[in-house]
Amino acid sequence: MCCEQVWHSEDQCTGAPQPTRTSMIQERVGLRLYVLLLFSCLIGGSDAAQANPIEVVTTTADLASLAQEVGGNQVHVSYLADGYEDPHYVQRDPFFLLKLRHADLLILIGLQLESTWLEDQFQFVAQSGNPRIQYGASGSLDVSRYADIADIPNQVSRAQGIHPLGNPHYWLDPENGRRISQAIATKLTEIRPDCASYFEQRFQAFTLRLTESEKVWDQKMRPYRGRRVITYHRAWTNFLMYFGLVSSGEIEPLPGIPPSAHHTNDLIRTMKRDDIRLIVVEPYFELTTPGRIARATGSHVLILWPSVGSNKQVTDYFKLLDCNVDLLVQAFSSF
Ligand SMILES: [Zn+2]
Repeated sequence: MCCEQVWHSEDQCTGAPQPTRTSMIQERVGLRLYVLLLFSCLIGGSDAAQANPIEVVTTTADLASLAQEVGGNQVHVSYLADGYEDPHYVQRDPFFLLKLRHADLLILIGLQLESTWLEDQFQFVAQSGNPRIQYGASGSLDVSRYADIADIPNQVSRAQGIHPLGNPHYWLDPENGRRISQAIATKLTEIRPDCASYFEQRFQAFTLRLTESEKVWDQKMRPYRGRRVITYHRAWTNFLMYFGLVSSGEIEPLPGIPPSAHHTNDLIRTMKRDDIRLIVVEPYFELTTPGRIARATGSHVLILWPSVGSNKQVTDYFKLLDCNVDLLVQAFSSF
């Protein structure tokens, strides 16, 4: 709004623009709005809703939480996939198009995580007809470009299952949470340059809080460094590496490929040989196979929360990591 142009009539003698009464009023109103907007950007601590927020749509609730952290009262954030859904196979919703049509900014996980439900035959982004958020446009932000990506293959092949470009569950590493937030702050500043200092201040507050939380998480997890676990899906690579835990395999033979008897038997042998006592499962997977493996090996099945909104207690990015750390500590200390 503060960047809106004010039109003048042309002075016939000098060629210089000469303000009319209407334009002077517009200019004054524009100036007042500019001052108001600048002021609203500077009051970092205020929760007052901005009259003209940037419409941000994220594909996941995790990205929504991070966008809200740095965007504060300058953004209105909504997301497409609920946190309790498998982010590879999200239930399509007619409201997707409505949200995308009005978005100023679309933030994606990328690495083809959203390909089956946002792109492919449905082409929701193209169908929205919103030029601002088309791939490559200034209102499209793929945050995988800024994160530390694990499991990057030497070449794209079926051996990666549904992770052909690398592991798309990278938000579960707090350092990646920081990188994603910085990328979002930079993008929001591009969209609303007058609020540069506001977004920078919000990002700095976020990263400070994250640093404090990391100290707590690290302290809690330190006694269990080096512990080996099995996971259902290859979703926890970044998380496990961050906390010094080791993945000794997955129940899925490849990401997205259902368990097979042959692979399950191999896994049981590995777990017995290496005395692996914990199987991590996301809430949307079946529990029959993990239960069978647990009975055969004397191990425990632990459900961890992969996303904000997976559970009613996991209300934001900090709670996501808080809850998972506490659940792991509880499990490790029980055997
Ligand atoms: Zn995956």
